[in-house]
Amino acid sequence: MNILAIGAHPDDLEILCGGTLAKYAKQGHKVFMAHLTSGNMGGKDISSEELAKIRDGEAKKAGEIIGAEVLGPVCEDLGVLFTPEMRSRVTDIIRQAKPDLIITHSPNDYMTDHIITSQLVFDCAFSATLPHYKTSLPAYEKITPIYYMDTLLGHKFHPEIYIDITDFFETKKAMLACHESQYKWLKGHHITDPFYMIETVARFRGLQAGVMYAEAFAPEKVWGRVAPFNLLPS
Ligand SMILES: [Zn+2]
Repeated sequence: MNILAIGAHPDDLEILCGGTLAKYAKQGHKVFMAHLTSGNMGGKDISSEELAKIRDGEAKKAGEIIGAEVLGPVCEDLGVLFTPEMRSRVTDIIRQAKPDLIITHSPNDYMTDHIITSQLVFDCAFSATLPHYKTSLPAYEKITPIYYMDTLLGHKFHPEIYIDITDFFETKKAMLACHESQYKWLKGHHITDPFYMIETVARFRGLQAGVMYAEAFAPEKVWGRVAPFNLLPS
């Protein structure tokens, strides 16, 4: 399968579904990791232009660990808005990846970039199928099922599917470790150690599912989007 994961910022996928993406890659699926923003506002002691360059390199390095193709960015931080331009850019990501499954943020996540990413992906997974909707790439006519990944620390998220990532937790950590520019920033601005955070959440989701480490998901269930089988890796 082609698996397309779309996050708002360069480190979101590593934090929220990195173990599952590593598992897909190990099973031989083609994985695309897309981030919509450049991450240029995730810091304060460095210019936003410089930060965008650093974070681009960090995202590519993290993707390399599992052999994923890294796509994006298509805008700056705080630029994820529901506009015709963003619809066109996100549609092109989908048309390029031709996914069998899309993973993205929950519509209930903690900040607007994440929430609108979720809405854009929901919209564009449909728009991408329409031959008369013109972007730089031709239509991809399959309406792709969407799985929402956990929110940050699980607030307002009700898991329906758990993926055992016990054998992939070290890989998830290694992927997150590529985002070096973010450790200090997250510890200061968000009062969170990102490694402690992913370990705590993966253990908690793991306890819920009876395994050591897990990541949680919930499928989008509206007409036309429901798949008659589980598309996530077992
Ligand atoms: Zn984010």
